[in-house]
Amino acid sequence: MKNKIIAGNWKMNKNRVEAEQLITQLIPLVKDTSNTVVICVPYTDLCKAVKLTKGTNIHVGAQNCHWKESGAYTGEIAPSMLTELGVEYVVIGHSERRTYFGETDETVLARTKAALQAGLKPIVCIGETLEERNGGNMEKVLSRQVTEGFKDISADELKNIVVAYEPVWAIGTGVTATDEQANDAIAYVRGVFAAKYGKEAADALYIQYGGSMNDKNAAGLLAMSQIDGGLIGGASLVAEKFAAVVNAHK
Ligand code: PEP
Repeated sequence: MKNKIIAGNWKMNKNRVEAEQLITQLIPLVKDTSNTVVICVPYTDLCKAVKLTKGTNIHVGAQNCHWKESGAYTGEIAPSMLTELGVEYVVIGHSERRTYFGETDETVLARTKAALQAGLKPIVCIGETLEERNGGNMEKVLSRQVTEGFKDISADELKNIVVAYEPVWAIGTGVTATDEQANDAIAYVRGVFAAKYGKEAADALYIQYGGSMNDKNAAGLLAMSQIDGGLIGGASLVAEKFAAVVNAHK
């Protein structure tokens, strides 16, 4: 049986003082879980987060990284700049980046490759919009995101990747996919991976659900057979709520 990977995506929230408060509150609340706990914090909180979580079961992630090692890429961060701080995970291709910052399957792949090369574990986000779902194109979109976004990823590299299925219509909206909708979509995504990498590799792959997951709905979602964890936005900003998600599945 796999454990679950529960990752908090703080987005552009929490200054250093607030980050310290949240992490300090969180540490004792999640210390007994057998699930993997990750907090993906703003770049400016990374040092503090790594320092405060040292010796605990909380892992630290960033929310993006560039595909180049260095150069004239104003505003970007290289993967090795993250690993040298002690960062272990990085979110890649979040729908907010795809929507507002022109992220494409191609750039997602480039960032993922570079992150892997530096020794980071990418949490690669995929998911359909409401329009795509209602137009009957959900499978087509998910299939394209996996096929294009994982084009040169080897089976060995896949072992270090976490996938987050995040229907765009459920992110930050308070509308959660039902347990069955999330499970069915993830089963479909797993099938696409199985077609390329084989059933064993696809079964071993961690695929999270993300989209308004919180302390109230986490137990149901995490009990589903295909759901290997959660990527949590809003509810990860309150220690008790995020801890409740982490502890919702034993
Ligand atoms: C997210 O940021 O990936 C997310 C799922 O946000 P929320 O939980 O707020 O919907």
